[in-house]
Amino acid sequence: MVYPASISELDNPTFQLAVAQFDQAAEAMDLDVNLRERLRVPQRSLTVAIPIRMDHGAVKVFMGYRVQHDLARGPSKGGLRYHPDVTLGKTAALAMWMTWKCALAGLPFGGAKGGVRVNPAELSISELERLTRRYASEILPFLGPDKDIPAPDIGTNAQIMAWIMDTYSHQVGYSVPGVVTGKPLSIGGSLGRLDATGRGITDLTMEALRTCDITCDGSSVAIQGFGNVGSAVARLLYEAGLRVIAVSDATGGLYNPKGLPIPEVLQSYHEHEELFGELNVGDRITNEELLTVDVTVLVPAAVSEQITELNAPKLQCHLIIEGANGPTTMEADEILRENGVLIVPDILANSGGVIVSYFEWVQDVQRFFWSQTDIEKRLKAIITDAFQRTLAFSKHKKTTMRMAALMSGIEQVAQAHMARGLYP
Ligand code: NAD
Repeated sequence: MVYPASISELDNPTFQLAVAQFDQAAEAMDLDVNLRERLRVPQRSLTVAIPIRMDHGAVKVFMGYRVQHDLARGPSKGGLRYHPDVTLGKTAALAMWMTWKCALAGLPFGGAKGGVRVNPAELSISELERLTRRYASEILPFLGPDKDIPAPDIGTNAQIMAWIMDTYSHQVGYSVPGVVTGKPLSIGGSLGRLDATGRGITDLTMEALRTCDITCDGSSVAIQGFGNVGSAVARLLYEAGLRVIAVSDATGGLYNPKGLPIPEVLQSYHEHEELFGELNVGDRITNEELLTVDVTVLVPAAVSEQITELNAPKLQCHLIIEGANGPTTMEADEILRENGVLIVPDILANSGGVIVSYFEWVQDVQRFFWSQTDIEKRLKAIITDAFQRTLAFSKHKKTTMRMAALMSGIEQVAQAHMARGLYP
């Protein structure tokens, strides 16, 4: 891929994937060439050094990023990731996907993403707090409920959001709950936020099965990733009556074609933080094997670029609901399309998290809080409507759901840019 020299620092396989998807959609919708140039790159990219005094006394410096891809439709919104693979390019790709995701769901946000290159498991709780507070203060001029609103992602959680909210609030001198979402209920978090991404994936899985005339009885599911998203999907689909036959985390998977007892697996995982503890409920499989088991629904809910041209021909599922961001490469997409696998793409499938984050932000700004039932009902209405709109558009355009979702999201952003014009 050829980039203008000025953005070569973003070069990274995940950014290449995001830009290639954007280029394909832009071409299909005949997007204005000037807008294409602008939307291929993020509006703002901030790189910060985060010096932390470690518990043993020495200072260690971590690299942090916050990328705001587009601000035309409102403040930017996106997760914060703590992971050793975080780079500026990967963060920029994730920020771009957030722009399309928010626009597709009709939320008044642009896309952003943040990250720190760190393995949080190697830090003590006090080191993690110092890292988070220093990161927040370094990016503070770019943050705010009307500017940019972080949320949890891989390696971060409600406690980390609470430290960011506290750091920001101390700087401005009063409590600002709307500066982050996914925070604890006691400081303005929302009911239903913790499992919102998993709940949205569950709503979409049921909607997709209904649309494809597949009954739940006998339908099976395999889930890669057993973190916030994957474990919630496992629990909610199990409760909905699907047979969850395989789950995995970074160390490998657990497989039982008759179905895994998910409540027991969850309890054991919670206690021992491993899938293969005392529990004897299935066989050990690798992550690669999990992707290719004979199953109705596959939910990749771990990291990007897991389904590639190497394993795509071996996949045996009917439906893929992308919980992770960017789990499928462009080459794999094409193979799966030819093999008749319906893919509900990431920017639609995992939008439950940002939809309930939007609810949290609205509740914080209005200081008026909703019930769990209200939240679940509104989430289901928004996400299933986005699914049906995207499906209808993909049929109308004779294209994949991924392209239809991207084109719909990009169209909303393009209209906002056209209406606002080019400043100055
Ligand atoms: P998490 O950190 O809670 O869990 C990640 C899981 O993936 C863990 O079980 C980990 O062991 C596993 N994993 C890591 N590397 C792996 C590998 N190479 N192979 C297999 N498994 C691996 O993160 P999360 O919040 O559950 O996010 C998972 C995915 O969903 C990410 O791609 C994230 O961007 C996306 N996502 C999350 C949210 C959210 O609300 N948390 C919203 C939208 C999208």
